[in-house]
Amino acid sequence: MRAPEAGVCNTSLPLQERSTNLPGKSKGLLLNEHYGISLPMTTSAALDLAQALIACPSVTPADGGALDLIRARLAPLGFHCGAIDRNATRNLWARRGVNPPLFCFAGHVDVVPPGPLDAWASPPFVPALRDGFLYGRGAADMKASLAAMIVAAENFIQANPAHPGSIAFLLTSDEEGDAQDGTVAVVEALQARGETIDYCIVGEPTSVAKVGDTVKNGRRGSLSGRLKVKGMQCHIAYPEKGKNPIHALAPALAELIAIRWDEGNEYFSPTTWQVSNFHAGVGANNVIPAFAEALFNFRFSPASAPEDLQRQLSNILDRHALDYELDWTLGARPFLTPQGKLAEAAREAITEITGIAPEFSTTGGTSDGRFIAAICPQLLEIGPENATSHKINERIALDALPTLVRIHERILERVLRDIRRVIA
Ligand SMILES: [Zn+2]
Repeated sequence: MRAPEAGVCNTSLPLQERSTNLPGKSKGLLLNEHYGISLPMTTSAALDLAQALIACPSVTPADGGALDLIRARLAPLGFHCGAIDRNATRNLWARRGVNPPLFCFAGHVDVVPPGPLDAWASPPFVPALRDGFLYGRGAADMKASLAAMIVAAENFIQANPAHPGSIAFLLTSDEEGDAQDGTVAVVEALQARGETIDYCIVGEPTSVAKVGDTVKNGRRGSLSGRLKVKGMQCHIAYPEKGKNPIHALAPALAELIAIRWDEGNEYFSPTTWQVSNFHAGVGANNVIPAFAEALFNFRFSPASAPEDLQRQLSNILDRHALDYELDWTLGARPFLTPQGKLAEAAREAITEITGIAPEFSTTGGTSDGRFIAAICPQLLEIGPENATSHKINERIALDALPTLVRIHERILERVLRDIRRVIA
């Protein structure tokens, strides 16, 4: 499903006017009267920007005007903004400075479809403030996070206009969809011109109970297969005249389900193998079908190479003398950021600002970090709570915004500004 009216946000209107111009239940937008004087400037700046981004109807792969909005924000700060578009996808690569090291904030402006509109308490593309939360599609995943990263960069640049190194933003509108033309296209373009990234923070919502409690320092790989086992169709009363592919496959499946593929390692849980789909039969109960088809997926750690997993699985199918076709898709290779300058900076910044010692984790699905890791040795994902990502009435706690701004700002200070001290 796509958004009802995917278009471009009207950023020329103040937010309050924008909301009242839209039909539906948009009463929740209170803005300045709700929070204005009691919160620090950075909160207002990040909250205003988060709301402006939510107002962009950027259902993947549309950016809904969000990238132009961000570009207009970054260019006056001295970022050189370049579009690296591919097919229908818009991507933004914005860089300030030419010297190493390069510190990059990465993320996506696209969102998943809102689902049934009447299930939302307020329209998904009209930002609404209620009960200490900011509501709207993308509030958690990941427009508030983008706003926090941008405001943190603004604050850092204002305080350190001649900072060492460079700062970049890598933003796409194709993360929630196929992810064929988004971050991967930017990474390929950077690779082609020999540009690498030294440190990267991806703003995915990684926190669980409180902002900063969980940081992703890697992700498992994803390897999918489509297996088609051939039999011979016949009347079920005369099985000797055919060959039942379900019966042939079942013992091999049982063996595959029971295997322990590896033990994982210090940072990764053991590799898992799961069947996601199984099809066989013609719908009648008196026919042995001609084939059985299974779709499966490995989530694998660096303890197993995808080529080894493929070989092991094929060996088992061969041992069971199956007649089969097998197509593989390598969705992602695993990556890991071990301890180092970025992880240390993140741990210190989060502990200093939140009082929480963050857990470093590699669990969960894939992210665009898998593409960036190819040109960046130190990559972490740090973002707000993920409890409402992709859900109806998606939201983020208002106090998460200033916390995220300060965390990112502090990390920038630790990684870039402190270089000067080392050099001096
Ligand atoms: Zn996301």
